[in-house]
Amino acid sequence: MLRVDLHLHTAFSGDSSISPRLLVDQLHAHPSINVVAITDHNTLEGYFQVQKLARPYNDLTILPGVEISTKKGDLIILGVEEMPNIPIDLYSAVDFAKASEGIVIIPHPYRSMGIEDLAMNIEADAIEVLNPTATKKENVMAHNLARMRNLPGVAGTDAHSANELWTVYTEIKAQPSIDDVLRAIQKGAVKPVAWAQGKPAEMRGG
Ligand SMILES: [Zn+2]
Repeated sequence: MLRVDLHLHTAFSGDSSISPRLLVDQLHAHPSINVVAITDHNTLEGYFQVQKLARPYNDLTILPGVEISTKKGDLIILGVEEMPNIPIDLYSAVDFAKASEGIVIIPHPYRSMGIEDLAMNIEADAIEVLNPTATKKENVMAHNLARMRNLPGVAGTDAHSANELWTVYTEIKAQPSIDDVLRAIQKGAVKPVAWAQGKPAEMRGG
C-alpha cells in the first residue's frame, strides 16, 4: 500500500516556489508518503531534476508527469517522459498521452482551469476528486462525475508552495514502481484521502 501525491508543482512551473531539492528532502523525511508525480505546467524539467536528486534514495519513487494547459482547461498526463508540441488542444493532448502509453487524469474538472463538462466524454483513466485548491463543492461535483463515469477518483495536493505539500494523498495498492503505480490507477486500486484521518480535508478558495 502506497501513499502518493499525484499532483504537485516545482519551481519549474513558474508559479510555484517548491525547489526540487526542498521537495526531495521533504519527501525523504516524510513518514509515509514516498511516491510523488511531478506535474509542472507544460514542462518535464522539474520531473527530471527531482528524479535526479531522488536517485540516491532507493525508498523514493518519482512518477513522470505534466499538467498541460489547453484552451479548454488543464489535463494531467502521467508516465510519459517527452512533451507534446505545445500549444496543444485538449483532444490532441489525450491522443498524445494514449499514443505514448501514458495515463490521463482530469484535474479539478470544476475549478477554474478545469475542463468542466468536457470531462464527461474525454478518454481519461481517472478523475481528480480531492484537490485542496478546489472548493468542497467543486470536489463533490468531481466525485459525482467519477462515479457517473465509473472512473477511479484520485487526490493530489496541487501544491505550489511548501506549506501546501502533503495535505492529501492517494492510497494506491501497488508496488513502488512507476509501471505498477500507473496500472493500479487504471485498475482503480486507489482511494483519495485527506491527511487528517477521518475528517474531510479543509478546503480553501471561494
Ligand atoms: Zn496543478
